[in-house]
Amino acid sequence: MPLNIPGLLAPFQLLWNPRVVLPHVVVADIRQLDFLALRKAGYRGAVFDKDNCLTIPYKDSLVPELQGAWKECREAFGEGNVLIVSNSTGTRDDPGGIQAESVSYYLSAPVLQHNSLKPAYACISGIRAYFSSLRNPIKDDELVVVGDRIFTDVVMANRMRRRAVPKPEEPKREDEMSLRERAKGPLAVWTSGVWQKESMAMRYFERQLVDAICRWTDSSSHLAEYQKAFTKPLPAPEVDKGEKLSMKRLWSMLRKR
Ligand SMILES: [Mg+2]
Repeated sequence: MPLNIPGLLAPFQLLWNPRVVLPHVVVADIRQLDFLALRKAGYRGAVFDKDNCLTIPYKDSLVPELQGAWKECREAFGEGNVLIVSNSTGTRDDPGGIQAESVSYYLSAPVLQHNSLKPAYACISGIRAYFSSLRNPIKDDELVVVGDRIFTDVVMANRMRRRAVPKPEEPKREDEMSLRERAKGPLAVWTSGVWQKESMAMRYFERQLVDAICRWTDSSSHLAEYQKAFTKPLPAPEVDKGEKLSMKRLWSMLRKR
C-alpha cells in the first residue's frame, strides 16, 4: 500500500475537532447493521471500504459469512447506490483498474477510481461526484459510510459533515430532528472486527482513542441512540437440526472470528 499522507495528517485535525474520529455506530461486522432501519430513516446510499470490511485484505471476493448481509444491503439501497471506496483497489496501486474490475464483479457493486487516498478531500470530491451523477442524486446526509479504520473511513465520513447544510426556513430544535437530520452528514459506521489480522497495534490505539474522546466529549448517550436504532445482534452460528455439535465443528466455529 502506498504511503497515505492524508491519513497520516488526519490526527492533527483532532486538535481543533476531536469528534472527527467518533463513529455514530460501532459493529463487529456488517451483519450487525440493520439496513432496512437505515433505509426507513432516509439513508439512500452507502460507501463501503473493502479490505477487512467486506473482503480479506487484497482479496477480491466477499467474505462468505457476509453474503446475506451484503445482499440485504444492496437490496435496501438499490443497485448503483452502494459504492466501494478502497485505499488499495481503484487507486494508483491498481494500474489499469484491473483489480477494481474484478472486485466490482465479485461484489456486484461499482468501485470508485481515485488517485487521492481516504480521507483526502479530493477522494471525498470523487465520492460526491459519483453520487450526484446518479439518476436520483444522493446527498451527503443520505449516505452511510462503512469501514474498519478510524483515521481513514471514520474521519472521511465526518469530514463530509463539514459541508454547510442548507438551512431550513424555520430551523428545528435538536430534539425535534430525526437521527439522520441531527448527524448533518453521512452516518459513520466503524466495523471493529477484523477478518485477517493487520495493523493490530494501530487498531488498539484507535480503539483507546475513540473511547477516550467519547468520554471527554460526553458523546456516549448521543451515540447510543444511533447504535440502538441501526444495529441488530449478530446471527447465531448455524447448526443443522439433529447435528451433534462435535468438538471439531465447535472449534471451527470459534476460529471464524
Ligand atoms: Mg479497510
